[in-house]
Amino acid sequence: MTDKRIFNFNAGPAALPLQVLEEIKASFLNFNQSGMSITEVSHRSSYFDDVINDAVDRAKRLLKLDDRFHVLFIQGGASLQFAMIPMNFLSGDDTADYVNTGTWSTKAIKEAEILKKNYTVVASSEDKNFSYIPQNIEFSNDAKYVHLTSNNTIKGTQFHEFPDTNGIPILCDMSSDIFSRPLDMEKFGLIYAGAQKNLGPSGTCMAIIRQDMLDMAKEALPSMLKYSTYSSKNSMYNTPPCFGVYTIDLVLKWIEQEMGGIEKMEEYNIKKAGLLYDFIDSSSFYRTTAAKDSKSLMNVTFRLPNEELEKQFVVKATENGLGGLKGHRSVGGCRASIYNATTMEGINTLIQFMETFEKENK
Ligand SMILES: *Cc1c(COP(=O)(O)O)cnc(C)c1O
Repeated sequence: MTDKRIFNFNAGPAALPLQVLEEIKASFLNFNQSGMSITEVSHRSSYFDDVINDAVDRAKRLLKLDDRFHVLFIQGGASLQFAMIPMNFLSGDDTADYVNTGTWSTKAIKEAEILKKNYTVVASSEDKNFSYIPQNIEFSNDAKYVHLTSNNTIKGTQFHEFPDTNGIPILCDMSSDIFSRPLDMEKFGLIYAGAQKNLGPSGTCMAIIRQDMLDMAKEALPSMLKYSTYSSKNSMYNTPPCFGVYTIDLVLKWIEQEMGGIEKMEEYNIKKAGLLYDFIDSSSFYRTTAAKDSKSLMNVTFRLPNEELEKQFVVKATENGLGGLKGHRSVGGCRASIYNATTMEGINTLIQFMETFEKENK
């Protein structure tokens, strides 16, 4: 057991800002003079109303959303969205376009398949083990939506620009890079993110949906699987994930007040990832796995000269207070997940450790 906090590079659940954890701790036993913790107050009380409204307002301010956009909190993680999207937006002969950039896109496609919907995979990077983001994609004229994964958590690739879809709304899984950079929301009909990477605890998914998508959605679905159920009830048709929403509110407040907003957040993320990539690129011991123009600012995937060294690297790093550096079990190698909450101190400590490990094992 350690009484010291580590530098946490876990992919998800992932590190949260220390200030947020301290605020949760300080207010836990008596939230806002309620005499109760946030996990004990009624979701029908003004205490919780204030929390969820604050979270929605902050999300709207950070992403500069106008009144067409609704900010929703839905349980079931990002994975339920894979199914809710085709359920809500495709009926009869309707068809959708999917871009396959890795494990999570593949899972999204699988749900459309299970539901027997029409879809086209218009681009895929599977030919090169999902190491790049496809360019110059041609979309179908009649697609109801285009589904993308903005950041591929496992493969370490990211869309740095979103494609021109000729006005077809992009529905985007942003689980691992939401609020890491500003977005041109005109392109998106729906963005969604499981909270456990960049936002808060697992079990909550934030979905931001535009009114025209709500208008297009099918009505004949079970209540809990319909976006309109959430938008018409401020995400409180049933008991919402209260602690998740509360933590997300604190994380968004941290971005606004401590980091200075989303443009500053992006600058910081570019700086952090830049340092780490520059170090790896200058080394003949470590190498990155993602194509140059597709490298993720959130998940830095890299290899060492052999698998035995990779194993030792992860063990040694853990001993030195650097956690979560093992690559996803499906791809092997190493991965440093450096979301919004990762500090420059964490990056510098990681680089120092990597330098030492290289010297000792070259
Ligand atoms: C982690 C992750 C998911 C899965 O999220 P759950 O909340 O576990 O369903 C989906 N998409 C991406 C891009 C992810 O990183």
